[in-house]
Amino acid sequence: MLNKIVIATSNAGKLREIQHLLAPLEIEVLPQSDFNIPEADEPYFTFIENALAKARHTSLHSGLPALADDSGICVDALQGAPGVYSARFAGEPKSDARNNQKLLEVLREEKNRQAHYYCAMVLVRSPEDPQPLIAQGIWRGEILRAPRGEGGFGYDPLFLDPASGKTGAELPMEIKNSISHRGLALRDMLQQIAQLHG
Ligand code: IMP
Repeated sequence: MLNKIVIATSNAGKLREIQHLLAPLEIEVLPQSDFNIPEADEPYFTFIENALAKARHTSLHSGLPALADDSGICVDALQGAPGVYSARFAGEPKSDARNNQKLLEVLREEKNRQAHYYCAMVLVRSPEDPQPLIAQGIWRGEILRAPRGEGGFGYDPLFLDPASGKTGAELPMEIKNSISHRGLALRDMLQQIAQLHG
């Protein structure tokens, strides 16, 4: 039985979205900031490996089950970049503003604006869990030529959802969560958790 889960992220935007989606569950959802957990390494080339590494790391340091997401934006004209390097696209220290500025610059002459967000989500019940729960989600869209909206986080002001005609930063969190890569992955994860609970 899962009574408590630690969310393995220090990204406030992700934490808000994940806590909102998990709120209806009868599981205590704790932020990683409640524990004194050093930042995990994300040394891998794939989202899924990084998510597993983060979940294990947080479970190890908290002694509790941990849920981690590794996500990013993948731009067709950049052959999938920045991908797993999305958070640090414009270098250290991480900055959403500089990342967005860099994305606009590298795509200035580019006509193909297709992109997608990708999210890998992993839940481990212990650091040695041999059967981690794994879920993924994709949200397809386009990169605008100028930012729009004040909500969301990261690349959201530049990411247009073609179906609604709104950017991730213009969509209320509930709507974003209903269509986003993270929302899709988390709903899949919730079904898997429900099965565990029988
Ligand atoms: P991570 O913490 O290593 O998984 O980095 C994820 C990065 O991808 C974030 O810092 C953002 O730059 C970007 N990203 C992932 N999901 C979203 C989203 O829903 N909106 C905007 N940016 C996102």
